Amino acid sequence: MIGECPLCHRWLPLERHHIFGGSCRRKSEQYGLVIGLCHWCHNEPPMGAHHNAQTALALHQYGQRKWMEEQGKTIDDFRREFGINYL
Ligand SMILES: [Zn+2]
Ligand SMILES: [Zn+2]
Repeated sequence: MIGECPLCHRWLPLERHHIFGGSCRRKSEQYGLVIGLCHWCHNEPPMGAHHNAQTALALHQYGQRKWMEEQGKTIDDFRREFGINYL
């Protein structure tokens, strides 16, 4: 599916990315914290989310804010649910 990549703002085929991976992957799915990224911002070095700590952090912060806003929760709630605070 072609769309605007939220990171580089180019119109490219988008790949599905779980904002919180690893042990939080299922929670990402459950809360709809899944976004479309272009291949370069997703899974290619040097900038891709799976290769670049800065890119991953920016997405984690975006995802945490989105979760807190949508669920009406606080940073402490996020820490309880995801075991970490990115803000
Ligand atoms: Zn991109
Ligand atoms: Zn991904």
